[in-house]
Amino acid sequence: MYQLGVLGHPVEHSRSPELHYHFAGQFGLSIDYQKLEVLPGTFSEVANRLIQDGWRGCNVTVPYKFDAHDICTARSENAQATGVVNTLSFEPGGVITGHNTDGPGLINDMVHHLDWRLREARILVLGAGGATQGILGALLEAKPSAVHVWNRTHERAVVLSQRQTDVRLEARSTSELEAQYDIIIHASAAGLSGQRVDVPPHVIGSLTCAYDLSYSQEKTPFLTWASSLGAAATADGLGMLIEQAALAFEIWFGQQPSTLALRQAEGLEARA
Ligand code: NAP
Repeated sequence: MYQLGVLGHPVEHSRSPELHYHFAGQFGLSIDYQKLEVLPGTFSEVANRLIQDGWRGCNVTVPYKFDAHDICTARSENAQATGVVNTLSFEPGGVITGHNTDGPGLINDMVHHLDWRLREARILVLGAGGATQGILGALLEAKPSAVHVWNRTHERAVVLSQRQTDVRLEARSTSELEAQYDIIIHASAAGLSGQRVDVPPHVIGSLTCAYDLSYSQEKTPFLTWASSLGAAATADGLGMLIEQAALAFEIWFGQQPSTLALRQAEGLEARA
């Protein structure tokens, strides 16, 4: 039996357990996957306890992706480049290897499943937390013409955009936002408290594709807003969650699970 889980605060909303039980079933692996609510200031202590208890690894969600990066003794290329970690692998000899599967997971969903075109696109990312830090590199690799980052606390977007020397990447304040982006990605935690980011409606046009990293049974507040403004297509983050989870599973077990059945069960293939 392999011990796994997701660490976050809040974590109750997470659908990671059902995804990993599904993947494990594809290979006849026996796992115990738990949701662990981690209180602020205790991340490192909790992770060390899991290692002592013989856990195989864990996923990391809001707001601990920076803490996860800091406790690693080894990091994948992607984790080094992004500076944030969403997957920890606990290895023999006390080695803690950090990975980030958020960026590739988002690209798998957006480009390979939804068939959205990122090449030459003008992209706006809303939010400048761990999720945004994890996906910016992957977005830039998809060859957009521009990636603008807006955040409630503008200074944080500025610091984030300065992590990379890429002229296509810029922090934009509310008054500097352009009209009718090709792609808008909502990557703030506002949805967790039932709120929506306060950006002007002109950022959405009839050709805009709107993606929300958050996901829920109902259409998220951000996607409801984007649809009301006539966005061409909307998708929530369940597809990304499934794709990043599959990559994490492969890190732990060296086997690549299929995401097809899960996607079909969630009606994701018909969303674009
Ligand atoms: P984080 O590091 O805690 O960052 C939170 C971000 O949200 C910051 O930019 C913060 O702005 C902003 N924010 C929080 N409350 C807000 C509000 N009421 N109005 C406007 N902005 C607000 O969190 P994270 O790790 O980046 O995660 C962000 C979201 O992405 C979460 O909902 C998470 O569940 C989701 N996510 C989904 C997936 C997936 O696979 N689908 C993967 C990763 C993340 P300030 O800087 O101003 O505080």
